Amino acid sequence: MFSSKVDLKNFSQEKLECFLGEMGEKKFRSVQIMSWIYQKGASSFSEMSNLSLELRQKLEALCEWTVLTERERQWGTDGTQKFLFELKDGKAIESVLMPSPDRVTICISTQAGCRMGCHFCLTAKLGLLRNLSMAEIVGQILEIQKKTLMRVTNVVMMGMGEPFDNYDAVVEAVRILRSPQAFHMSQRKITVSTVGLVPEILRFGKEMDVNLAISLNAPNDELRAKLMPITRKYTLADLLEACRKIPLKPTRKITFEYVMLSGVNDSLAHAQELVEKVRDIKCKINLIPWNEFAAAGEFKRPTSTAIEAFHQYLNDHRVLATIRYSRGRDISAACGQLIPKMINH
Ligand code: SAH
Repeated sequence: MFSSKVDLKNFSQEKLECFLGEMGEKKFRSVQIMSWIYQKGASSFSEMSNLSLELRQKLEALCEWTVLTERERQWGTDGTQKFLFELKDGKAIESVLMPSPDRVTICISTQAGCRMGCHFCLTAKLGLLRNLSMAEIVGQILEIQKKTLMRVTNVVMMGMGEPFDNYDAVVEAVRILRSPQAFHMSQRKITVSTVGLVPEILRFGKEMDVNLAISLNAPNDELRAKLMPITRKYTLADLLEACRKIPLKPTRKITFEYVMLSGVNDSLAHAQELVEKVRDIKCKINLIPWNEFAAAGEFKRPTSTAIEAFHQYLNDHRVLATIRYSRGRDISAACGQLIPKMINH
């Protein structure tokens, strides 16, 4: 009946129910299995003690088990931990854990590498190696919880890769994060960040209710195209029009990320242009001072004075903005600094 081994960790609950149904098992077994995988962090079927021995053996024979192997971990002085994982095919990804007193946030990758080519981002230098499966996306959380004994409360998909370039796996991963049988996380605790793929933004806005962050990074097409090649495919006008169409609940806002690059996009004239562009959108702006990496070419991080003046200008013009000082800069774990050491690229 089943030709090759399947990975249950890549199954949505409905798929798991179908799979078990085909084996002649009751539907509620799927709830038990999901709970073992996502809530109890089981590493094998043999631990699933409320399943019959016969079912466990059958599953063992039919299924494989996605594993992420921790190859390296670095600790930042601010408590950030960066994990380097090896995937089954030898490819490598990184994930970052950021504990604080009131929350534990994890930044996860959705692709090995990335093909969006943003010039200020180190991950882009890799190009796209491959998409991650749903099991590899949520597996980063499971593995880090197991290793650190911390319970992750907030998830941001802002690690390596462009989430909407791997749309289906990302949506399945969000469903698992939201599912009461799995991570059971609130929509407010999950953020997906995109470079700005317009069709996927529109689709996601209809299908999902989690936070959406969009990397704007410049207030006009000319400048944005110099930083982000995707601008040639989707103009700022298209992107902002898509944002206006997203059905948002009264209390929710879209987040715009704005990486601040000294002498490039950080003047008050840029701030003014930005205000005009986003004025009629329910949004908040996260200003991210650019994080350095070797061989970054012409880019520089702005001075605190420039960052604060930009911030002040936005707030004075009633555009809600926050400066996000990235964590983990000392271990290259900050935004745009993820590039795993070569394993098998
Ligand atoms: N591909 C997605 C998610 C990954 S990047 C996206 O583009 O949104 C996450 C955020 O980090 C983006 O807003 C990106 O613009 C920002 N970023 C990339 N490189 C950076 C760097 N070197 N310093 C600061 N922010 C950076």
